[in-house]
Amino acid sequence: MAAEPLQHDPARLAAGTKVPRSGIYRVYHYRHRLPHSVILLKNDVLPACHHCGDRVEFVELMDGDVCEADYNFSLEQADDQAA
Ligand SMILES: [Zn+2]
Repeated sequence: MAAEPLQHDPARLAAGTKVPRSGIYRVYHYRHRLPHSVILLKNDVLPACHHCGDRVEFVELMDGDVCEADYNFSLEQADDQAA
């Protein structure tokens, strides 16, 4: 399995940054784990890694809200959208 490139990418977000959009993010650790994906929610803070600390980086792969936050599935707005 080929390693993914390590060059700096401006789309990469550092630990401690506020999550810009809910969705799936690719996680790039520093020298201890291959990249993997996680789900993060808007306005959460990107976490530091327990192993490589704030050298971990995140890249948004795909945005997507939790189902309960979508206007067609939100109970709070069900009456407004009934038509
Ligand atoms: Zn790490």
